[in-house]
Amino acid sequence: MIEIKEKNKCCGCSACYQACPHHCIQMVEDVEGFLYPKVEKDRCINCNLCKKACPILNNVSSDSDRSIKSWIGYAKNTELRLASSSGGVFSVLAEKIIERGGVVFGAAFDENYALHHIMIESPEELALFRGSKYLQSRIDNSFLLAREQLDSGKWVLFSGVSCQIAGLKTFLRKDYSNLVTIDVLCHGVPSPELWKRYYSEKEKEYGGVLQNAIFRDKKNGWKKYSVKLVFSNNTEYTKVFKEDSYMQLFLKNLCLRPSCHKCMFKDINRPSDITLGDAWGVNNYCPEMDDDRGTSIIITHSEEGEHLLHSVQDKLVIQIRELNEILPATADSRKPVTAHINRKKLFKMLAQGKSITNMIKLIHPSMLKRVLNRINRSRNLSFTR
Ligand SMILES: Cc1cc2nc3c(=O)[nH]c(=O)nc-3n(C[C@H](O)[C@H](O)[C@H](O)COP(=O)(O)OP(=O)(O)OC[C@H]3O[C@@H](n4cnc5c(N)ncnc54)[C@H](O)[C@@H]3O)c2cc1C
Ligand code: SF4
Ligand code: SF4
Ligand code: SF4
Repeated sequence: MIEIKEKNKCCGCSACYQACPHHCIQMVEDVEGFLYPKVEKDRCINCNLCKKACPILNNVSSDSDRSIKSWIGYAKNTELRLASSSGGVFSVLAEKIIERGGVVFGAAFDENYALHHIMIESPEELALFRGSKYLQSRIDNSFLLAREQLDSGKWVLFSGVSCQIAGLKTFLRKDYSNLVTIDVLCHGVPSPELWKRYYSEKEKEYGGVLQNAIFRDKKNGWKKYSVKLVFSNNTEYTKVFKEDSYMQLFLKNLCLRPSCHKCMFKDINRPSDITLGDAWGVNNYCPEMDDDRGTSIIITHSEEGEHLLHSVQDKLVIQIRELNEILPATADSRKPVTAHINRKKLFKMLAQGKSITNMIKLIHPSMLKRVLNRINRSRNLSFTR
């Protein structure tokens, strides 16, 4: 049966939980707010189906035989593009699947601002998926539901971060010609518990209940995006990402899931059909594709992915480009990021009920701590040589 000995070897995709025929696995939250499988050993029949479904135990991340094509682009529909994090390409592709009578899976907030993967069937509901939400989404039973839809012959578009797509593939354990998968380039996912602490504090400060959360508001442009929270009493919090505490804890790697620091799913060869990301730097190599409303990176990994992209070409402005030009091998979305030296301290403070205002002080460790850290790192290096 599945057993988590090292937390960085579980990305929380829930494939094992859904694969267990005896329902003896539960996904349980740890002190950091991330989910891990827990097996009821008495009921386990040692069938090993949980292990066979795990994307970390059965590495599906790299299939270098598939040919990759890379593009930059954005949706011609400006309203849709402004409501999306990058160029709005996801919504255009998803609309096409719905037009074919299919269903779409993605990450959406529930009424309590917890993030779950859900299934939708109408173009209006796509708004629920639009825009990046910077916390880990719960997969729940969505792989099971996707399999049901696939078996019924419907088109299914499943979207998520790369480890979720890898988890879906190892869960299904067979190819479906009616399945299209889209993953997003991924820095890592912050703790849902930290998100809860953050917005609860803002609710208290603003005296209202959270009604809308946008992590990538483009009022000041795509490159200078802001976090925007709207409350029930019509008040609003807006801060440019560089000044927002939550975004800084995220981007400085203080609050990511442990597996994100050992991520096995950032290889450019992926099991998905299409990868989407932000075309940061487009202003340098292709200024005519940058009006600061958002431009996407689009990478197709399969004929089906390419076919879907071509089928919506009239709704997009796109250009084929060299992969290394649009996404350098050094980008954080192509290699695991190193945990901040104070990551452990942050989660200790979270468990102690400390405020985000206190946690933010951890971003800049003392000079002594930085020197000690550097010495430790060089010691580790000399041991491994
Ligand atoms: C946690 C996270 C980290 C990211 N890190 C990077 C990065 O380092 N570099 C980069 O170039 N791009 C990154 N992205 C991707 C980027 O922000 C855009 O989502 C992507 O370019 C698609 O943009 P779009 O305009 O086409 O569609 P959008 O409408 O902006 O994106 C919608 C898609 O994002 C999915 N989604 C939103 N939040 C989550 C979530 N928490 N978990 C799973 N799926 C989610 C939706 O299901 C849907 O498929 C990240 C996204 C997320 C969610
Ligand atoms: S070994 Fe089989 S029965 Fe036991 S937890 Fe895994 S899937 Fe369930
Ligand atoms: S990575 Fe996914 S399948 Fe593997 S143990 Fe973790 S939750 Fe289960
Ligand atoms: S960094 Fe890797 S492990 Fe973490 S959420 Fe992204 S794809 Fe999953």
